[in-house]
Amino acid sequence: FSGQSKPDISREKSTQLYEKAKQYFPGGVNSPVRAFKSVHGVPLFIEKGDGCLIWDADGNEFIDFCCSWGPLILGHNNEKVRESVTAALQNGLSFGAPTALENELAELILKNNRFIEKIRFVSSGTEAVMSAIRLARGYTNKDKIIKFEGCYHGHSDSLLVKAGSGLVTFGETSSAGVPKSFAEETIVIPLNDRKAVEEAFSQFKDQVAAVIIEGIPANNGLLIQEKEYVHFLREITQQNNALLIFDEVITGFRLGFEGAAAYYDVQPDIITYGKIIGGGMPVGAYGASNEIMSRISPDGNVYQAGTLSGNPIAMAAGIAQLSVLKSGVYKSLNSKALAFVEALQRYVSAKNYKVKIFSAGSIFWIAFTDKEHIRAASEIDPQSMEKYKVMHRELLNRGIYFGPSGYEVGFVSNAHTKTDLEKAKRAIFESLEVVF
Ligand code: PLP
Repeated sequence: FSGQSKPDISREKSTQLYEKAKQYFPGGVNSPVRAFKSVHGVPLFIEKGDGCLIWDADGNEFIDFCCSWGPLILGHNNEKVRESVTAALQNGLSFGAPTALENELAELILKNNRFIEKIRFVSSGTEAVMSAIRLARGYTNKDKIIKFEGCYHGHSDSLLVKAGSGLVTFGETSSAGVPKSFAEETIVIPLNDRKAVEEAFSQFKDQVAAVIIEGIPANNGLLIQEKEYVHFLREITQQNNALLIFDEVITGFRLGFEGAAAYYDVQPDIITYGKIIGGGMPVGAYGASNEIMSRISPDGNVYQAGTLSGNPIAMAAGIAQLSVLKSGVYKSLNSKALAFVEALQRYVSAKNYKVKIFSAGSIFWIAFTDKEHIRAASEIDPQSMEKYKVMHRELLNRGIYFGPSGYEVGFVSNAHTKTDLEKAKRAIFESLEVVF
């Protein structure tokens, strides 16, 4: 490969749309990362998607590894999902009353998941986690939550809290508008550090309602935790009468039908879901044992509700997507993704690039590092993001769409064929040649 930069793709229409969007939305977007702040150029306005391909307003075509940030495990515009949604649409959009579709999706999940007995549908991952936290507090009658630096759990107040420099810090918010008094209920500690967990439990004895961790932390790079560590979290929460919450908004139905709980063979107390569960429609969910879930209103005293919760169109999309997954997709998907990742790794190793591709199932992260493992946020070199920025631009110019931040993971979908992955590999090799 030549190591030459490719000329930039046209962004004329995207630029016009972005200028307009800036008049209407703060920063021109409805979710911050979409603004392309950490990569080159204006955000691409997407017009349509099919299989693993997307097309922007300027007619540029890309092989998509963002997949709407994870929900589209079957690819864009999947026929089964589309048909299911189209059929549901004929009956109206929303009733605010129970429908059989909610039962159908719940049954599909609960009959095929050893880790939860009851589930409640909500409309986003944020809402699922926020509700799970309230449930944990209500159930344990305690207030404090332990979360990990580098784990993202949506934008509810108690979870927009970051770590300071000490081993155990708390109360430092990551957003204006989060009252310090709320943030003080959240203890933030580094991942992969047993001592920090032990210290937090001893410093806040009998005050911790729950420890929350992403199934596999995938919002700040892919920080794969060791099985022993995850089991340690299970034990220490049990010893301290605190709940273990697995936030499986990304990993749920991604690593396998039973997500990270099965991957680590650990029984969390509460599991949250989002993304894949809704087939591309806005759905979140949280589930737990019958006993814990009995504390939710109307029977229990932990209040949680939603006008559009269990929306029939969203349920129809989820049913279709999960049914396809249930019929047997993971084996071929995960091995396809592994072959892709291994080929990338072989290439960068042969080239002696400081690059490591971390992966779990069909989630992968290209890290500019020579470390064998990265298990905590602090092990990521912020300087390496400059390299990602160059790679991202080169990839777009070669028809490959990655998330617009080096901290974001990529997703292989069932719609990516071997040919698509070959094409992507070549583009990645060429782009890395420009980076280094
Ligand atoms: N939890 C995790 C692990 C996530 O990755 C996300 C979103 O990326 C959320 C929660 C929040 O989900 P949503 O964006 O649907 O509110």
